[in-house]
Amino acid sequence: MDYTNFLAGYPNEARRAGLWKYFLAVEHEAKMFAGTEKNWKPINSVVLGQGIPIYVSTGRIRLNANTDWAMFHEIFHDTFGRSPFNSGTDKAWAEAFCDAFRYMMEKKYLPDPRTKWFAKVDHFADETYEQVMAKSGDKHFDQTYVYPASLIVRKANRDLAQFRVLWFELERLRETKGTDVLNAYFGYNMQNGRPL
Ligand SMILES: [Zn+2]
Repeated sequence: MDYTNFLAGYPNEARRAGLWKYFLAVEHEAKMFAGTEKNWKPINSVVLGQGIPIYVSTGRIRLNANTDWAMFHEIFHDTFGRSPFNSGTDKAWAEAFCDAFRYMMEKKYLPDPRTKWFAKVDHFADETYEQVMAKSGDKHFDQTYVYPASLIVRKANRDLAQFRVLWFELERLRETKGTDVLNAYFGYNMQNGRPL
């Protein structure tokens, strides 16, 4: 992507330039999950808008002027959307995988102190479903995003290299079995937000 397509019109040019450096580094990390060159396409634009950060469409992300590190999550949507997991019941794991990726990117690239968001995922990874839900302020959100992300983070031992290995192992498992694998693998039903 050319810099002109990255957050054009952003109110703070120094911050925009800073975000761009993170974007390039993290997009490169996402590419490592594509497997082969033919599965990879660069993101073609990051646009500035109102409202929460979202993955708008293939190759396109929308962030707001106060955007936080949700950008890392949105970058991975493009990778997940082009992966074999983007069908059947596995497709519902997109948010959890994007959050797990964001966790790994925050851990690798952001300076201390850790963000509140990071601390939450990190903490969840040590807790049971019941413990998390007992204090959840937004059960549906935690069931869809942060709790299942913490299951992935735990399986990967909070380690980026292990997360990547896990990703490709799960791709192989899906191919071998010829069916959805993520609910069963993580012991979690993403469709109803409860452990199996
Ligand atoms: Zn998302």
